[in-house]
Amino acid sequence: MLKSISSKSDIFPTIITYHGVVAKYTDRQVQNNQIEIHEFLKQIDYITKRFNVVSLPELQDTLTNNKSYQKNILAITLDDGYANNIDIVYPELRARGLASTLFIPTDLIGTSKRIPTYYVRALIWAGHKNKIKIPSISFEHQLDTFSNKKKVEIYLIKYLKALPYEKMKRFIGEIMGQISEEKWQEINQSFHSEALMDWNGVRYLYDEGVVIGSHGANHVSLHNRQSSSIINNELKNSKKRIEDKLGECKYFSFPSGSMIDMSIDAIKQVSNAGYELAFSTEKSIKMTINNRLTLPRICDVKSFPRLLVGMARYKILQKG
Ligand SMILES: [Zn+2]
Repeated sequence: MLKSISSKSDIFPTIITYHGVVAKYTDRQVQNNQIEIHEFLKQIDYITKRFNVVSLPELQDTLTNNKSYQKNILAITLDDGYANNIDIVYPELRARGLASTLFIPTDLIGTSKRIPTYYVRALIWAGHKNKIKIPSISFEHQLDTFSNKKKVEIYLIKYLKALPYEKMKRFIGEIMGQISEEKWQEINQSFHSEALMDWNGVRYLYDEGVVIGSHGANHVSLHNRQSSSIINNELKNSKKRIEDKLGECKYFSFPSGSMIDMSIDAIKQVSNAGYELAFSTEKSIKMTINNRLTLPRICDVKSFPRLLVGMARYKILQKG
């Protein structure tokens, strides 16, 4: 017999993740973590019609106390701390009375540094180079066509995310060394959307009631090639920094956040550092308190159709 209405077991709390929002793309390849405002508003309007948007502490309460899921609850999270979260994203959320949580990489906040993968994308898509050569990894490739650029981007970003922290820093140095400092200044100015907020900005959002969580200190993936001391530093120092500057920091979101970006050691250390919940970018992990250190989130929100597909897949995976 067909069920005409969703049963209680069909409804799971949902968490959705945005990064940054821009008025209009300058180059969507460089601005890969941003979506355009008209897309964002379409998605937010859909979400507010279909879901009961709650804060992460409310979602935590629902999971912890196994409260009814009938309310169809959804929490909004924002990763990375883009400055545009203050002047573009937050006013829209506030106008609709929507709660949100911001996850920040604490050592990058208030500096001119950007998220590590930005440097790779910016060099490839805005560096105007016909060829890229990285002698230390014997890498050489043409950058003459869209498809060659895309291939190089996918390869180098995957490579970067898999590096231990010290090697990642050296690798970014090599990427930056491919073009002059003046050229970088020019590119960074053209892509102001990739700039992160400063602590005054974080404090403003905190005072407005946005929950602030840690996204590590330097936005490094906590995979199994990362040493225990680096993982410890990323988890504890970032938490302490937020607590010294603002107040309690109970939540952590794994940088990159796929299965391979969360080593067994890192998950243990998340718990030891005192975080109550941590968040992945995997949809397949079950949304239960037993998985409180790797909770699932829907991150593929580049367009409205992709959001709908992501939500449908999430529902199937949660039921299965
Ligand atoms: Zn991130």
